[in-house]
Amino acid sequence: MIKFLDLQKINLQYKPEIEASLLSVFNSGWYLHGEENQAFEKNLSNYLNVPFVIGVANGLDALRLILKAYIELGVMNEGDEIIVPANTYIASILAITDNKLVPVFVEPSLENYNIDISRIEQKITKKTKGIMIVHLYGQIIFSKELNLLAKTHNLQLIEDNAQAIGAEWEGIKSGNLGDAAGFSFYPGKNLGALGDGGAVTCKDEKLAKTIRAIANYGSNQKYNNIYKGLNSRLDELQAGILNVKLKYIDADNQKRRLIAKRYCNEIKNSKIILPVYPNKELQHVWHLFVIRTSNRNKLQTYLNENNIQTLIHYPIPPHQQKAYKEYNTISLPITEQIHQEVLSLPISPVITEDEINAVIRIINNYNG
Ligand SMILES: *Cc1c(COP(=O)(O)O)cnc(C)c1O
Repeated sequence: MIKFLDLQKINLQYKPEIEASLLSVFNSGWYLHGEENQAFEKNLSNYLNVPFVIGVANGLDALRLILKAYIELGVMNEGDEIIVPANTYIASILAITDNKLVPVFVEPSLENYNIDISRIEQKITKKTKGIMIVHLYGQIIFSKELNLLAKTHNLQLIEDNAQAIGAEWEGIKSGNLGDAAGFSFYPGKNLGALGDGGAVTCKDEKLAKTIRAIANYGSNQKYNNIYKGLNSRLDELQAGILNVKLKYIDADNQKRRLIAKRYCNEIKNSKIILPVYPNKELQHVWHLFVIRTSNRNKLQTYLNENNIQTLIHYPIPPHQQKAYKEYNTISLPITEQIHQEVLSLPISPVITEDEINAVIRIINNYNG
């Protein structure tokens, strides 16, 4: 079976370094918010060229904390609206509703599956306080127009950068394009821990301090609680692992680009719509290679029978989830079509040449 993603193989590449790091945390006797966390925040800050990094427990917390801090700072209030792409992973929406903010769903473009920037302005109301962009599947969505739109309407531009670490727009890394960004180090992400992990990045010191305090029980100083906070720490062992793997992220992303390029050039099947390989290739880190086809289940069964494992990102859009009954009746035809047609092919830095050849050959032999 060609695995969708072979996490064990990915991590085996770094086994000696990871083992050394785990042992060093073990021996240090200091298991939370220690040297590995500090080093990781510094390393990520240098890598992204962003002034403030706060390690947190996971990607959902990263996004929740950003919005919670804006509320504590009085920038946002309960009931305010956040513009967000309708076809994102549920976590983006949960971060919004968890803070009693209101998600305003915007349709994506069928070209790149990212939020359709031309549809944002018409959704801005007096209650709009932010735009959460999601660099979905690893591709940056950003433009000067988007930035100007946010500035003109005094909106916070928040990046859900769970899927696009290392992507670059005109020399600026994702996670450094907006006012604040949330990162996830879930094992399957391009920079994956061996468990949960996340980070917030931002440019404003006051925001950074507020987020750091909220993530630490609302405490700016031990036993001094200024917010009703959370406990959201990046685990020290995971920080150590991430310090190892961060050194290789650019090389890993480049391997993903080469695979994506081969798929784009060599998969030739009229039943299948391929993603567009961007002219500015650094804008994409190919967290997922997502194709579309009208009879998705048939293709997935065929690939499975031919020993190719695929996944669906995602089968049900947030507004159609049971958890969001209040949005079940809205119609978002592009989003709904995407969720019915998408299929993610195997892509990772450790997939072999033979495996790529097999995926291409088998898909080219599919005749619907
Ligand atoms: C993975 C992911 C998250 C959440 O990250 P966790 O670390 O799993 O909490 C948020 N948004 C998007 C787009 C994701 O892909």
